[in-house]
Amino acid sequence: MRLDKFLVECGIGSRSEVKKLISSAEITIDGCICKDNNKNIDEKNTVVEYKGRRVIYKEFRYYKLYKIDGYITATEDKKEKTVMELLPEWVNKKDLFPVGRLDKDTEGLLFFTNDGKLAHELTSPKKHVDKIYRVSLRDDIGEGEIEKLEAGVDIGGYITQPAKAEIVNSKEILLNIKEGKFHQVKKMLKAVGNEVTYLKRETFGKLTLEDMVPCEVREIERDDVI
Ligand code: URA
Repeated sequence: MRLDKFLVECGIGSRSEVKKLISSAEITIDGCICKDNNKNIDEKNTVVEYKGRRVIYKEFRYYKLYKIDGYITATEDKKEKTVMELLPEWVNKKDLFPVGRLDKDTEGLLFFTNDGKLAHELTSPKKHVDKIYRVSLRDDIGEGEIEKLEAGVDIGGYITQPAKAEIVNSKEILLNIKEGKFHQVKKMLKAVGNEVTYLKRETFGKLTLEDMVPCEVREIERDDVI
């Protein structure tokens, strides 16, 4: 693959940006400065470095983020800050997108990839991927409401699929759902006469937050996901 194309694919910049980096001697190949855009490299074996860090080509990439309040789940937006802005410089953002959606004020686990097929599998209603939310509530919750949430509630003309709910304390539950309807958790709690005051997603399929801290991003492998 040509050096400039390789750098674009690795998310270092646009075609014109990487050309500038190459001509200003910022890229090394096997330890030597290379100022030739057209240089052919072996994307697996050639050691290409930028700012002293090896640039590695991966067709598919997988990351998890501990999202914080205030960012919308989108790749771009004219008015709002998007979750893409929470990804640090070292993340190759080329063709990357968030899988599934967390509301602007929802925190917790958000998964990103450029692997459209896997994303489709994870979000397909047939796949039944478990998502566990930690939900803080305005009012105390009891076993009666828990039973209703588990059996399925009407969230505006749609009856939710069976779920699992566990009381953490009188104003906090863990809710495990397999679907991802718009504002689903908030609507489910509203359907039982309560209100969500804070929402955090703790798991998404096999992925968990582990010991991540807010805004942290980790690169993960495909096998970690499904
Ligand atoms: N359910 C909600 O209501 N909001 C989210 O962000 C995720 C699930």
